[in-house]
Amino acid sequence: MSHLDQDKEVNDNAVPATGKMMMGVMEIFMQGSEGHPPVIFALASGLSRAAIAVMRLSGQGAGSIVESLCGCLPAARRASLRGLWRRDGAEPVLLDRALVLWFPGPDSYTGEDSAELHLHAGPAVINAVADALVALDARPAEPGEFSRRAFMHGRMDLMQAEGIADLIEAETEAQRQQALAQVDGAQSQLYQRWADRLRTLLAHQEALIDFPDEELPPEVEQQLCNGLQELHATMQAYLTEGEGAERLRRGLVFAIVGEPNVGKSSLLNALAGRDAAIVSSRAGTTRDAIEVRMVMGDVPVTLVDTAGLRETEDEIEAEGVRRSLFHVKQADCVVQVFAGNPVPPRLDGADVLVCNKTDLHPAPTGAIGVSVLTNAGMDVLRTALADKARALTAGRAVAPFTRARHRAAIEETVRHIGQALSMPWPEMRGEEMRLAMRALGRLTGAVDVEALLDTVFGQFCIGK
Ligand code: GDP
Repeated sequence: MSHLDQDKEVNDNAVPATGKMMMGVMEIFMQGSEGHPPVIFALASGLSRAAIAVMRLSGQGAGSIVESLCGCLPAARRASLRGLWRRDGAEPVLLDRALVLWFPGPDSYTGEDSAELHLHAGPAVINAVADALVALDARPAEPGEFSRRAFMHGRMDLMQAEGIADLIEAETEAQRQQALAQVDGAQSQLYQRWADRLRTLLAHQEALIDFPDEELPPEVEQQLCNGLQELHATMQAYLTEGEGAERLRRGLVFAIVGEPNVGKSSLLNALAGRDAAIVSSRAGTTRDAIEVRMVMGDVPVTLVDTAGLRETEDEIEAEGVRRSLFHVKQADCVVQVFAGNPVPPRLDGADVLVCNKTDLHPAPTGAIGVSVLTNAGMDVLRTALADKARALTAGRAVAPFTRARHRAAIEETVRHIGQALSMPWPEMRGEEMRLAMRALGRLTGAVDVEALLDTVFGQFCIGK
């Protein structure tokens, strides 16, 4: 039995709405004219210039659409070279010669009958094929709709679906590994084990309620509380140890702050390797925050060059300073820059202290000395920032959570388990445990997911 099947079984017992049961609602919502969801299609390969464009279609009826285009259905899961024909006019019109792959359900990505047409990627070819598909009653897919259907057909859980979205977005090697582990079910399996444990404890709890004390050994209640306490501690530790993974997924923000004219813009340009910020010897030239995305220590980092922090009469500059302070608050790491002389007090929340213009003044101890002008010390600074990025995204948790949504659900589970532990009455303890199970089930999408689906799948790109 796969962990996905187990997931369903566990939650079927504990809570009413599973992904499968919800299909009833979703199917009515998505129904096409023949009483089943319409065939959807999208360019899975995106719109950029390329040699080949992959048009993907899915839904009951995909088979007859492929048949109509190709003349017959090609062998399943094999690449076949076929002419694609539009046949609704007086004469059939050849649209393209393409590789066609036919994936009959339920063993397809979506669980439905699906196909891929590997077209020549010219816009006219793509448009002609899209028009032909619409003429055959298919409709363009919404963002994430293929994955949403895969979820509704039990081909993956929500954690895995999110992993796929992350894999598509992954910019660095570390992000790729993180996303792939999630697709492979690393987190799902861990949450499944917790759900199993909670369900066993809940069964003991029910027994305590249903049978009078004298029929059960007195240690049952103690064991139950110990079990809950253990789970509570495990999950709480997971929350602290897993923090870095969420940051790795979204990327970090490093804010460069300091007084005007100390060389913040010059530093950002040097780090980014291009002229992103305006460098000027007039104080107060960077009035708005300038952002540059780069990779440090295999982590995507947005470097923000903020307006110089100083008292100012200039309204626009003052707004810039306000934004700087905002960035300082939001940043994962604050890099405070000064220019040798005088040495300013360390800003509240400054993580890295950089003394620039060491060609003019020596750096004081405790600061990384650089000269953007001569490039002295820049490698040391780059290494220090990369180390910082790695440290911020490192976590000790096995299969860490990667999104705020996951954190919230786990926090809620922990809260309910905590409340269950503080309840003197078995009935109320049971209720808190059921709420904990429900919160945990929301992670993988086994319960209560309808409200979540738009948020989760809306973040996907079209064609996935
Ligand atoms: P910001 O206002 O803090 O962003 O500072 P800028 O990057 O605009 O730089 C202010 C001035 O300092 C410019 O004239 C730069 O050329 C100069 N500057 C930047 N880095 C260095 C450096 O390492 N040494 C020296 N001598 N001048 C620098």
